[in-house]
Amino acid sequence: MKLLACPACGATVYFNNSLCTACGAEIGFAPGAMAMVAPGPDGSATVQGRRWRKCTHYAQLMGCNWMVEGEDAGLTQPFCVSCRLNRTVPDLSQPWNRTLWKRLEEEKRRLIYAALRLGLPVAPMADGPGGLAFDFLADVAPSFSETGRVMTGHAEGLITINIAEADPVARERMRAQMAEPYRTILGHLRHESGHYYWDRLVRGTALLGPFRALFGDDSADYNAALAQHYANGPPPDWPQHHVSAYAAAHPWEDWAESWNHYLLMLDTLETAWAFGLGLDPGATAARALAADPARDPYRPTDFDTLVAQWLPLTVAINALNASMGHEPAYPFALGAVALRKLAFVHAVVRGTPPPEPGGYP
Ligand SMILES: [Zn+2]
Ligand SMILES: [Zn+2]
Ligand SMILES: [Zn+2]
Repeated sequence: MKLLACPACGATVYFNNSLCTACGAEIGFAPGAMAMVAPGPDGSATVQGRRWRKCTHYAQLMGCNWMVEGEDAGLTQPFCVSCRLNRTVPDLSQPWNRTLWKRLEEEKRRLIYAALRLGLPVAPMADGPGGLAFDFLADVAPSFSETGRVMTGHAEGLITINIAEADPVARERMRAQMAEPYRTILGHLRHESGHYYWDRLVRGTALLGPFRALFGDDSADYNAALAQHYANGPPPDWPQHHVSAYAAAHPWEDWAESWNHYLLMLDTLETAWAFGLGLDPGATAARALAADPARDPYRPTDFDTLVAQWLPLTVAINALNASMGHEPAYPFALGAVALRKLAFVHAVVRGTPPPEPGGYP
């Protein structure tokens, strides 16, 4: 993910922000420009001669922070390039559904961002054959009963997501039940998009032969393969052949898991490089020990220096976590008084004078 800046004040903002936390300006992501713009009171912004208008889900429900491009600005296209892919959304009159749906849309926009960056087709199914659509559905019966349960999956361009996947408690329970090491909304979306893009990019093309040579014969009975996977688990040597245990179920799942992992790599690397994070692939313990001693946080230093190095690192770590589909690793915002208390702890540990009363910094 690129680093995005508030167009009003230049502060770094998160991809899903609709308000700048530094200056309070309303902001929206313009997918054609891959940048944040600042809509005025009428909900539109003109940047470099192009006009942008808030997506209807942004303007009416705050369920999106993307903008619709100028040529689409007529009444015929109320939704952004991500929201226009929706076929069904849950009953939004229920506040909890609304909360879950917003989370799903945030992660979907991250997927669509990657598709746009890669130049992949993202045309809606409603526009013609070969298009993409999303159903976000709630279980009819209470969750975890087999009847009335919405199955997350892909079929003929339609990606169905059970909105319970956006509920962290339900998702963790499902992760534990399935004995999975990793289960995220973004991972689901990337995985299911892999099935869609396999249909678009591999099925019936010259790539099918090389695909089968590497992933196996995709004409093998899919339902039988899945039943066998759930009954017996993956073969014990799956790590030598697959990116995940589930990938061992069938060549289609192997592809979707590989696609998912590839998108995770791209997004996370872009985030790391945007923050200027780079690692020396040849680093060793011996060389790390020889690193600049001024970077040792345990050596005596002033608290301001620690904070100045800490805060940008936390922003970067949270952005890296988001690229991998995880919640923020550091869900804190340190206010002035809290910082002064940390400075006090620092002074006690270091045996230096406590911070001056009257506010920090
Ligand atoms: Zn700002
Ligand atoms: Zn939208
Ligand atoms: Zn799948």
